[in-house]
Amino acid sequence: MLKNLPRESSLQLLNLYNRMWTDGSFPREWKSAILVPFPKTSSSGVADFRPIALSNCDLKIFERLVNFRLMWYLEKENLLNNNQIGFRRGRSTTNSLTTFSGDILESFEKRSHTTAVFFDMQGAYDRTWAEVIINQLVEWGFHGHILDFIKFYLTSRKIRVRIGSTLSSEESIDNGVPQGGVLSVTLFLVAINGIFKFFNPDDPNKILVYADDIVVYNDTLDDSERCIQLQKCVNEIGKWASRNGFRFSPSKTKIMHFCRKHRCRQIPLSLNGSLLEYVETYKYLGLWFDPKLSFKKHIREIKTASYVDPFPLTTRCSLPMGQHMMIKEVLLLLLNLNLSLVSDVMSPSQFTL
Ligand SMILES: [Zn+2]
Repeated sequence: MLKNLPRESSLQLLNLYNRMWTDGSFPREWKSAILVPFPKTSSSGVADFRPIALSNCDLKIFERLVNFRLMWYLEKENLLNNNQIGFRRGRSTTNSLTTFSGDILESFEKRSHTTAVFFDMQGAYDRTWAEVIINQLVEWGFHGHILDFIKFYLTSRKIRVRIGSTLSSEESIDNGVPQGGVLSVTLFLVAINGIFKFFNPDDPNKILVYADDIVVYNDTLDDSERCIQLQKCVNEIGKWASRNGFRFSPSKTKIMHFCRKHRCRQIPLSLNGSLLEYVETYKYLGLWFDPKLSFKKHIREIKTASYVDPFPLTTRCSLPMGQHMMIKEVLLLLLNLNLSLVSDVMSPSQFTL
């Protein structure tokens, strides 16, 4: 409806936005949202519902304007770490997957091993502390109107839940970023950027962050050295999370040891005192990984889902095109590196990219 406003009305709305921006005074209604639970699966447990937040339409437009400026400045000043990949222009899961796979393949070439810890962050957006975001923005030099709006946007929020025609009473929310807000995603990137302070380019530990998907890995040749370095890093991340309101689930945080040996020592690693589990398969950003980087499980799943051969990756397959492209690009990387492991899965004559 707002998109179809006549020019005169659009200009009036723009004037109103500009006045609010300069005065730092925003409607109280913008702090209220209605949550509508939608079932994720056929079961009916509370955890099986996904809450969709219905917020004010004027706010949605306003936060888009703010988000555009905020993101532009963050990118221009290079404030977000380069290894933070999610929700940034010109980057996608393919960047994370090719970097991660490429590093593992390089370690294979050196006859080395890579141990990776896949962190599971619980309720990431709901736990993001407004204070952490604001402190980070202030540290980066943000002040004035944009900071005033972000403070307004994050604090003293209210929600009501609607089921059918029944509306609950209003409840205050003191934590997290507004659900479904376009600005929320960028503010989450700001909050999580602090995790990179434990890493530097000379460090054997590497980290890739795609929104709340975090993987930390290293390929140090020496087993003991790798264990010490990685455990130290996991400890630091655990402490950082506690200090900043984030929480990792030790039972869902998994380790995978990538190497070409048949039997290799799995060095115990722990998170907040809980021993982490080594796994033989792990789905990272939609792609099933395994210790030999064969992608056999992923290919099996594609076959099962599509009822056709996974290659060639064409529209014959019923999977979404985005996933085709992702797999295709990862496999292209493997081929470009001229490694033989793809042929372990399927001979080159069997597929066309
Ligand atoms: Zn190994």
